Amino acid sequence: MRKKIVAGNWKMNMDLAEGLKFAKSIAEYYEKNPAGETGVILCTPFIHLAGVANILKGSKVACGAQNCASEPSGAYTGEVSASMVKSTGAGYVIIGHSERRTYYSENNRILFKKTRLALDNDLKVIFCCGEVLEEREKEHHFIVVRKQLEEGLFGLSKDDFTKVVIAYEPVWAIGTGLTATPEQAQEMHAYIRSMVADKYGKECADDLTVLYGGSCKPSNAAELFSNPDVDGGLIGGASLKKEDFCAIVEALHEQ
Ligand code: PEP
Repeated sequence: MRKKIVAGNWKMNMDLAEGLKFAKSIAEYYEKNPAGETGVILCTPFIHLAGVANILKGSKVACGAQNCASEPSGAYTGEVSASMVKSTGAGYVIIGHSERRTYYSENNRILFKKTRLALDNDLKVIFCCGEVLEEREKEHHFIVVRKQLEEGLFGLSKDDFTKVVIAYEPVWAIGTGLTATPEQAQEMHAYIRSMVADKYGKECADDLTVLYGGSCKPSNAAELFSNPDVDGGLIGGASLKKEDFCAIVEALHEQ
């Protein structure tokens, strides 16, 4: 069964006290206003993770990290391993966000290593893909996403692939206020699903959750989510405001 999900990506925002307070208020909200089968995930900075996981324990809300190391352990100053993420109580990790690809030079080879380690440590992976503006303008977006998925994900076994969520995030729409049109989102999501069907079979593709990310907000969420291949959203800016984040979850839940 394909799961519908809204995941908030806090990025590098909120200090520890602010983050814990925010997570508590989200957990309390979903205690009073259950979102049914719609999955709600908070992806926090590493420093918040153990505290947030503790607050969310037993609640309807899950948590995840925004990254993990590409090596299992050892002399990698400043890094946080997948097993460390798992030990906090987190259930998810975002891999391959465009900000990691761009600012920290994470290529598909590194992202595959991270994905492998995350899955080996029993974390579910939210794997991001998407083209930059120039690639979209040259109509190379399908080629770019194909390469990102083939090199970053398709080395996984079918069994491992079932623990992956894909987030299509056109880079030109992230934090810019520009949003892909519902048609652009649906077109790419359907393409991703067809690629997965070719690689892992139709059943696997049908069960795959494909999220849209890029300036998703309460005013455009329902239209984006109404598309048959858009199973939810990865939300940056709007995940930092409780009303906006909960309104986006509601828009998905009402589909
Ligand atoms: C993101 O960072 O994954 C994202 C989608 O950001 P925003 O919603 O702010 O565009």
